Amino acid sequence: MSRERLRLALVPEPLWALSAYKRVSRKVWKQIRASALEETAGSCSVCGERRERGMVCHESWAYDDVTCTVTLDGFKIECPDCNAVSHLGQTALRGFASQALAHLAAVNEISLREAMAQAQLARDAWDRRSREEWVVRVAPMLLVRWAELAVLDGRLDDQEKASPVFDLGRANR
Ligand SMILES: [Zn+2]
Repeated sequence: MSRERLRLALVPEPLWALSAYKRVSRKVWKQIRASALEETAGSCSVCGERRERGMVCHESWAYDDVTCTVTLDGFKIECPDCNAVSHLGQTALRGFASQALAHLAAVNEISLREAMAQAQLARDAWDRRSREEWVVRVAPMLLVRWAELAVLDGRLDDQEKASPVFDLGRANR
């Protein structure tokens, strides 16, 4: 199995509410997660670790800074340590930034100094991206497989308007 390097992509502030997990039915989310688990036989898609608990089905969102389009392009299993790096902003808020940077350095085989430089670049990108207005897309191959993901496909504004209704629906299930 080829492993990916650990990439930092801090979710821009206007997109914090964006989540496939929160917007599809539990049934579909279970299918998505099962499919991601199957792909790596339950191991972390980044570092290869396998834990009994805490493996996360991570949503992979690709940012196009030219068109200001963010596209859901896949789901991958991450161990808690890699997921803490993927969500470095939240991890830092919880006080675990140094552990996450050490893990980033170890997995990507770079120095701690280089890991910190990567974090700074990610932070700069976050600043820039947080000032933009984003269009949200879902990769066509994902829509073919899980039509429910279409709820995410459109402008973020539309989703935010729709979300209270959606949440109400969920509470009644
Ligand atoms: Zn991992």
